[in-house]
Amino acid sequence: TPIDRIKKIINITNSELIITDDKLDIDNIDIYSLNNIKLKNNLNIDNNIAYIINTSGSTGIPKSVPISYNNLDNFINWINSLYPLNTYKNKKVLNQAHFSFDLSVADLFYSLSNGHTLISINNINDYNEVFNVIKKINIAFITPTFMKLLLINPEFNNNNYPNLECIYFCGELLDINTVKKLFNRFPNIKIINAYGPTEATSAVSGILVKKDMLDNILLPVGDISNNACIIDIIDNEIVLKGKSVFNGYLGNIKGGYYKEGNLNCFKTGDIGYIENNLLYCVGRLDNQIKYKGYRIELSEIEYYLNSIKEIDNSCCIAIKDNNIVKSIKAFIQVNTSITDIEIKDKLSKLIPNYMIPKTIIILDKLPINKNGKIDRKILNDRY
Ligand code: AMP
Repeated sequence: TPIDRIKKIINITNSELIITDDKLDIDNIDIYSLNNIKLKNNLNIDNNIAYIINTSGSTGIPKSVPISYNNLDNFINWINSLYPLNTYKNKKVLNQAHFSFDLSVADLFYSLSNGHTLISINNINDYNEVFNVIKKINIAFITPTFMKLLLINPEFNNNNYPNLECIYFCGELLDINTVKKLFNRFPNIKIINAYGPTEATSAVSGILVKKDMLDNILLPVGDISNNACIIDIIDNEIVLKGKSVFNGYLGNIKGGYYKEGNLNCFKTGDIGYIENNLLYCVGRLDNQIKYKGYRIELSEIEYYLNSIKEIDNSCCIAIKDNNIVKSIKAFIQVNTSITDIEIKDKLSKLIPNYMIPKTIIILDKLPINKNGKIDRKILNDRY
């Protein structure tokens, strides 16, 4: 994460202390690192907030999501009631997600509140370590993207990994092909597909995937007889209400948050429907995407591209295969000559690496539709 973005997050969250495994030098804030501890003063801790997670925001400022202890309590009660997680004792649980991503809230608090052992992967790019850790694991909390990486290894199967009993997926679309492969390699594995945004405390619904669901094109993301909060469909959008939902973003950012009487409500931006008591999530109403497990607003990348002085206008598109984002492509209109490498270099100082488009295409002019907006469809179809 570039230092300027870290500063924005400090600013918006009013943080007084940073705990890091990195070397950071920022004025006016206490930094607690493994090598260097320098504490300024006593901390002023907000007793209501259990944690704050920062996600991508379309205006260039990260969206800071504060989750209260009541939200978290409600989540813990819900996840502990979810079948088959509610049947396990003394298991070894995998933490794959970084603590800055709210999937980690599920494995951390599920294992702590049940007395399981939580095991983290230190370096997710070190496959020896990854598979050594997974050998010991009974219950894994992972993203579908991570599972696709595991499945590349043909040795990843029930014979070699007999301890693996249950996988909890959340955070992005779980596609049928991945589940089919998984059942082929681990015939008796229990697979949970859970759904929810950071704004509603990690997850609000979940369902055990059964083999007869694999004949459809889309898996359900929840059984609405057991949710962490109220789930409504309003104009095709999944809207969450009640105990799981946060109390608004920090720094007066509006987003999909609103109040209905005393009820906190959140318009997720997800298109969804309920059929036979099952919740389905079809896609997004906006340009938010999930890429390699990261939540990204394409308009945030555009915001930073447009802040580069050589660039007049930009448009980012997610390149998908079977509904899964494979890469991000940026189209830009420039006023002086600049190369894609120079642009990537400038972006690297503004946004995290995973947000930098893989391909940057320089056009004389971006195509415009009848409404005078950039024509994303033409860009998508033509390039
Ligand atoms: P995050 O706040 O990073 O957890 O991202 C939340 C968004 O991820 C949701 O609003 C959905 O768009 C997407 N998402 C989460 N879980 C699922 C799922 N099981 N299937 C499809 N999309 C999901």
